[in-house]
Amino acid sequence: MKNLMLVLLCSFYCAVSWGNDNPMAPQTGSSACDTPIYSTNHYIADHALLMLPAGERHWLDQRHKHYLLGTTSPEDPQLSTTCALPANNHASQHEKHSVEWAWDYSDFKVVNGEKKDRTAVLAQQAYDNAVTAYRADKLDDAAFFLGAMAHYIGDVSYANIHSDTVWTDARSPALSPFEQYVSPDRLVKRQPYSAVKRVSKNSQEIYRTFGSAQDKAAPPAIGKSVNLGANELADVLHTFYVSVVKH
Ligand SMILES: [Zn+2]
Repeated sequence: MKNLMLVLLCSFYCAVSWGNDNPMAPQTGSSACDTPIYSTNHYIADHALLMLPAGERHWLDQRHKHYLLGTTSPEDPQLSTTCALPANNHASQHEKHSVEWAWDYSDFKVVNGEKKDRTAVLAQQAYDNAVTAYRADKLDDAAFFLGAMAHYIGDVSYANIHSDTVWTDARSPALSPFEQYVSPDRLVKRQPYSAVKRVSKNSQEIYRTFGSAQDKAAPPAIGKSVNLGANELADVLHTFYVSVVKH
């Protein structure tokens, strides 16, 4: 299954440069609209897509470019204008794509009455926008918003622990040190807010354990975290299919 996924991923992207999420520089010009820059977030978004049965992901495969542009969009406030995509109210500053956990991991931290769950909220908003767009027969827009939702789950899949040292090795899926950890589990129904919560809790625990991606023990832990992110995202995409597309 892993090799099959690798082949499918290569059929999409082996000719496309492989980059890091940090930094994800704003793109200008029409090439940005035709060839989304591939980053760690896109890697997770694509793996999640490939975890779905072919029939469930068919409508997204047909709008794959919109899905990937959606994954780029939260980091690139110009993208919607440049590529004539739906306006989005996503935060453009990377520091806002984060959550904070209480030290006992009981829930997100609350500071002065404000719950530090911003990424979970943004993911849920993007998903809700996708629901609205799909029901209005705007399927390209729905794919775009699901891609944006995928961005936020991708962000917390390696929160605070991705580093240039680790991720610049991932120039292609074949070379990614994390490919070996990507393995589909059973699809279940999951809302984006809950997925961000589950994934970020796991990655925060890793961060507190290892502190840095430079640690020898960290890459397997990060690989497992990236795998959890892809699987939780696949669950959300599955939920969208079951609750919206199939209806
Ligand atoms: Zn981000």
